Amino acid sequence: MEKLPELFENNRQWTEQMQQKHPDFFDDLAEGQSPEYLWIGCADSRVPASEIVGLTAGDMFVHRNVANVVLHTDLNCQSVLQYAVKVLKVKHVIVCGHYGCGGVTSAYEGTDLGLIDNWLQPIQDVIEKNRDKIEGIDKKKDKINRLCEINVKAQVKNVCRSPFVRKAWESGQTLSVHGWIYNLEDGLLNDLDLCISSNDEAASISEV
Ligand SMILES: [Zn+2]
Repeated sequence: MEKLPELFENNRQWTEQMQQKHPDFFDDLAEGQSPEYLWIGCADSRVPASEIVGLTAGDMFVHRNVANVVLHTDLNCQSVLQYAVKVLKVKHVIVCGHYGCGGVTSAYEGTDLGLIDNWLQPIQDVIEKNRDKIEGIDKKKDKINRLCEINVKAQVKNVCRSPFVRKAWESGQTLSVHGWIYNLEDGLLNDLDLCISSNDEAASISEV
């Protein structure tokens, strides 16, 4: 049976490095977590959440799924969101998509991949509603990248509509929801200029 010894060796080396840099690192983490950020991103292996923003264990609560979708009926995502906002009291929720997203591409092409097509149906709905925004774009790659941005905006809106987020704002809790997109080609993040910090600001996001 293959037991992946190289990964265990990597893990052992990582613990040594962390302890050399911060002798109390694991003792502190074992006490509990108080991350300032919740990251909602794509499951794509090329977009490792903490790594691309220079954070480490304990810094960021993370939820990832195919195409960074936030559904009100997804108990997994909503539980993460509730715990992060209500219990951990994160100050920032970051929805981060990425250009060239395979999930968005599949939704755009209407591919027949089985169960994943059901998961991507909400993105197909977003695409249908925003066909006019990509009509004038020539290249398919650019159309998909624009749809990746629009998908982030749609998911930011879904986060803002979550009852946990709405209640947090109603009670005066400090919380901002951000929409970002990651470029696989140069490793850089782009801020989509979506930063929502109140129910009033959330109401002003245009329909997507
Ligand atoms: Zn993706």
